[in-house]
Amino acid sequence: MAQPQSADQHQTGRQKLLLASIHDVSPLFEREVDVLAELFARQLGGPRFAMLVVPDHWGRAPLRDAAAFQRRLRDWSDAGVEMFVHGWFHKDVADHAGIARFKARHMTAGEGEFLGLPETEAARRMTEGKALVEDIIGRPAAGFIAPAWLYGDGARAALDRCGFALAEDHLRVWQPGSGRILARGPVVTWASRSRPRQLSSLAVAALARSGLHGQQVVRVAAHPGDTTVPALMTSIGRTLGSFAARRIAGRYAQLAEPDISPQDSSATHLRSPVPQGTATRSV
Ligand SMILES: [Zn+2]
Repeated sequence: MAQPQSADQHQTGRQKLLLASIHDVSPLFEREVDVLAELFARQLGGPRFAMLVVPDHWGRAPLRDAAAFQRRLRDWSDAGVEMFVHGWFHKDVADHAGIARFKARHMTAGEGEFLGLPETEAARRMTEGKALVEDIIGRPAAGFIAPAWLYGDGARAALDRCGFALAEDHLRVWQPGSGRILARGPVVTWASRSRPRQLSSLAVAALARSGLHGQQVVRVAAHPGDTTVPALMTSIGRTLGSFAARRIAGRYAQLAEPDISPQDSSATHLRSPVPQGTATRSV
């Protein structure tokens, strides 16, 4: 269970937060999402995390037609899990040029859906994704997070007019429209695609567990593919547990709330008994 660190609160005037997230939540990965959700809830003391929902993963798993999975999303949301819109298809089907092509090829394995989209198409997918998710959960989506955390110019422009409360990339969380930065710092995440990437992500997570405790906000993100590698699951569990032992497992929405004074922090907790949150990497 996460416990607040009173010394940290008094130093900063604001609680340190752990924001944990499960990426690529879709009927396509229902079994894997279940495994991750169980691990997250166990390590964080309840449903104190976020899910990144893909409306039609790779064009193969339309959420609109998946009534049973829709009910599960609603139940998770009712339990306190924050729901983000995470692209539409997830896959990058645009024809890139220059630096965008380099990023698409070398950083995403083709999953950077919003890197090359023009503003009109980006806005259409964002708006439809938001409406779909909000219709399912019966409350506002927590925000929008692009697949692989990659935003092209069109996506950034669209984001500013689609009414999402929050967005994030590898290095920050911000408020679309105002552009206000709400949190800074890298996302701790894992890669399952190849053995070298697995080893590298295990090493980075171990470093993060010892080196990021001073950060005001720590984000940790896991993906369905991580469930296929036992060493990654062990590392994810240890990382969540390590941070949750020293800070609150909170909600992204808390980032947009007014600063909490040390005297008010316990009262604020009573008003928000079910923290959750997270953000991280996808691919
Ligand atoms: Zn993703």
